[in-house]
Amino acid sequence: MKRINYAIIAHGGAGGISYAMRRRKGLIEAISIGYGMLAQGGSSLDAVEKAAMILEDTTIFNAGTGSSCNLIGDVEMDASLMTSNLHYGAVAAIRNVRNPIHVARLVMEKTDHLLLCADGAIKFARLMGVKYYNPKTRGKMRVWENRRKQPKNSYFQRHRELVHFYGTIGVVALDMNGCIAVATSSGGITMRLPGRVGDTPVIGAGTYVDKNGGVSVTGHGEEIMRHMLAFRAVTLMARHPASVAGRQVINYATKVGCRCGLAGIDNRGQFLCYNNTRAMSWCSIKNGRLKVFTGD
Ligand code: ASP
Repeated sequence: MKRINYAIIAHGGAGGISYAMRRRKGLIEAISIGYGMLAQGGSSLDAVEKAAMILEDTTIFNAGTGSSCNLIGDVEMDASLMTSNLHYGAVAAIRNVRNPIHVARLVMEKTDHLLLCADGAIKFARLMGVKYYNPKTRGKMRVWENRRKQPKNSYFQRHRELVHFYGTIGVVALDMNGCIAVATSSGGITMRLPGRVGDTPVIGAGTYVDKNGGVSVTGHGEEIMRHMLAFRAVTLMARHPASVAGRQVINYATKVGCRCGLAGIDNRGQFLCYNNTRAMSWCSIKNGRLKVFTGD
């Protein structure tokens, strides 16, 4: 039987590499645990969910605890999970849960739906036993307060300027059985309008995977959705290795003015990781070898 080269990659958003040491620590911890699960024969779905939960709990990233605030100071989060047999679950604009990625998995496994949003998602989470949790941190409240005081441009101009705050997290893994899974979780873009949903929970935009490979995308959600970047990259993986597919998609994104980053794996275990923003932090492990980039 052919031996599958299990592997895992995670990103910490394409908005920059501030607090490099804390990013490094969070990324290494999350994917080491995910890789350990794969090494013991665990599924890529379990590995990406676990690693994403660790990243959601690490306040430096814009997901789960430490998510950025919207225009009125609320935290509304998006998350999605997908496997190479096309199982999908997502939540959008969910509030007051600790791990949106876990609720996305519950949507995948306990309902016939793909995506639940806002109050419906919260009610569903409570029904599944997920407890109330406040993911707002003082740090992100301070960012919100400072932003609020800044001279008024139009909201949409400001939205574009906030590119440096992209900090969504994503994890992609290939397991011993050849299954690929992707998890993406985001606090959204700082100062967005209440109720705004980004690319993260939209199938094919922030997350996509099929038998050829899987990709998690971060960056300017509106543009990522418009150009369906995750689906675009995965489709290319049917004909090209991951690195070629990733390069083509990032070149395309640059051409159409979409500021973003993507990380993924193809079905042979080859990674892709590209961005056209100032910097993107990421970490990967294959054949026991860890690589990490947080700019330090
Ligand atoms: N893609 C996310 C969004 O637009 C933001 C990010 O990647 O940090 O909601």
